[in-house]
Amino acid sequence: MPLTDDQRAEIEATRATPKPTLRAVSEGMEAHMYRAHEVLDHGFIRVIDYMGDDTAIVQAARVSYGAGTKHVSNDEGLIRYLMRHWHSTPFEMCEIKLHVKLPVFVARQWIRHRTANVNEYSARYSILDREFYIPHPDQLAAQSVVNNQGRGAVLEGEEAARVLDMLKRDANTAYDHYEAMLSPTQADGSPQQGLARELARMNLPANIYTQWYWKVDLHNLFHFLRLRADAHAQYEIRVYADAICKVVADWVPIAFAAFEDYRMGGATLSGKAIECVRRMLKGEEVTQENSGMSKGEWREFMGVVDV
Ligand SMILES: Cc1cc2nc3c(=O)[nH]c(=O)nc-3n(C[C@H](O)[C@H](O)[C@H](O)COP(=O)(O)OP(=O)(O)OC[C@H]3O[C@@H](n4cnc5c(N)ncnc54)[C@H](O)[C@@H]3O)c2cc1C
Repeated sequence: MPLTDDQRAEIEATRATPKPTLRAVSEGMEAHMYRAHEVLDHGFIRVIDYMGDDTAIVQAARVSYGAGTKHVSNDEGLIRYLMRHWHSTPFEMCEIKLHVKLPVFVARQWIRHRTANVNEYSARYSILDREFYIPHPDQLAAQSVVNNQGRGAVLEGEEAARVLDMLKRDANTAYDHYEAMLSPTQADGSPQQGLARELARMNLPANIYTQWYWKVDLHNLFHFLRLRADAHAQYEIRVYADAICKVVADWVPIAFAAFEDYRMGGATLSGKAIECVRRMLKGEEVTQENSGMSKGEWREFMGVVDV
């Protein structure tokens, strides 16, 4: 279960007692406040707090541009200009604080994004729940033969069933031993000391769920989303990034549209690639052999320009 009954009651109570504020409010974001968006089999993201909206980005930018922004006629134009020119600090004026429940192996990828503030559930103080990520059969795939860092065809039939069974049994056996080590009594009821929580957790597999609060500014969140909502990111972190994208689209719709256009939808071309585009536009036949690019570069270039 992604949320406990206590957490649900807490969310309802908080949503039932809104407080007036003079701060900038994003109507789209207010609808998300505290609500959990379920991700994977037991995970979620939920917005705990936020600061700023599209206007806050514009406001901050106008401090630096002052009266000089006359050529940028509206807020959308200014935000798109900032995004296009990698003028990042105005986006740092907006912040978001999320409560995230995620498998430990996803957390290991997520934590690599250093430009955020994190506070994680402590398995030294608390006992972890018996909640493990077990992939949906659609996601139970073989090693990709073209991408060392990816998956290929979905496992089928008896092999899929065997793998799922192993995942479930291993997780449950590890958790049974976790509980047995923590317990003040042995299986036969006789007393034992019980291993410390900080040690007993060490045999738990990486698909157990953890939770954290994660606070990040919009500039660094966009960086995270560009990498983790991308098709090359592992599915299990991508679904979290996709869920966050939906929230951000409601929070700062203009900035998110600019991000989608320039970062998610755009592409960076090398000097050689731009030269090839120029030659192509002049009608020259350009191939990988005469492009000056490696096979890998050419494949990626074709992925951008080939129609
Ligand atoms: C598809 C994919 C595959 C990956 N594979 C691997 C892998 O095989 N092995 C592996 O170890 N990692 C891997 N990573 C993680 C990756 O290398 C980055 O660590 C991760 O994406 C975080 O990116 P970041 O450092 O830009 O983000 P952040 O830590 O949020 O940093 C944002 C930006 O701030 C700046 N910055 C932050 N901290 C510093 C610092 N201390 N010094 C200088 N500049 C800093 C940098 O400009 C950085 O780009 C992978 C990531 C992706 C998306």
